[in-house]
Amino acid sequence: MSETQIEAHLLPILICPDPKLRKVARPVTPGDTEEVRELISDMFATMYKAPGIGLAAPQVGRLLRVITVDVAPKDVPAPLALINPEIIAKSEETAVQQEGCLSIPDQYADVVRPARVKVRYLDENWVKQEIEAEGLLAACLQHEIDHLNGVLFVDYLTPLKRNILLRKLAKAQKDMQAKR
Ligand code: ZN
Repeated sequence: MSETQIEAHLLPILICPDPKLRKVARPVTPGDTEEVRELISDMFATMYKAPGIGLAAPQVGRLLRVITVDVAPKDVPAPLALINPEIIAKSEETAVQQEGCLSIPDQYADVVRPARVKVRYLDENWVKQEIEAEGLLAACLQHEIDHLNGVLFVDYLTPLKRNILLRKLAKAQKDMQAKR
């Protein structure tokens, strides 16, 4: 770990249909540096605890263009924090991945997206980076960047499938609250 170790906090994850999940997040500016450093550390802690392979700042109620991902197997962590990520190229070829979302707990569906993407972003040290991704990482990056634009994976489903899934989610949430 780095020498500037900061204590991470678990953040509450917003659940669909929280209206904040539908907002467009604003770009991070140099004035946000300190806040974003802390946010990224908290987002990693929250994402690993969930557990999940990706998290976007709007999911923890912060409307900033920041995402964290880690699609590596559990014993080989590969944390990736992306500030102001932008998809600058995508393949015509598509791929299907089963997707889930920490804001839509326990609901999964196949989603079709470009198979490969190139993403430009700033890393935690404010250095411009580019990453080319395919497979699970490509789907995960697209899913998380969608969150920054208020888009959820259920938006790619047919209205019928989406309604069934969201109704199941609402029922599960209600049952859970009743048990509390
Ligand atoms: Zn998600």
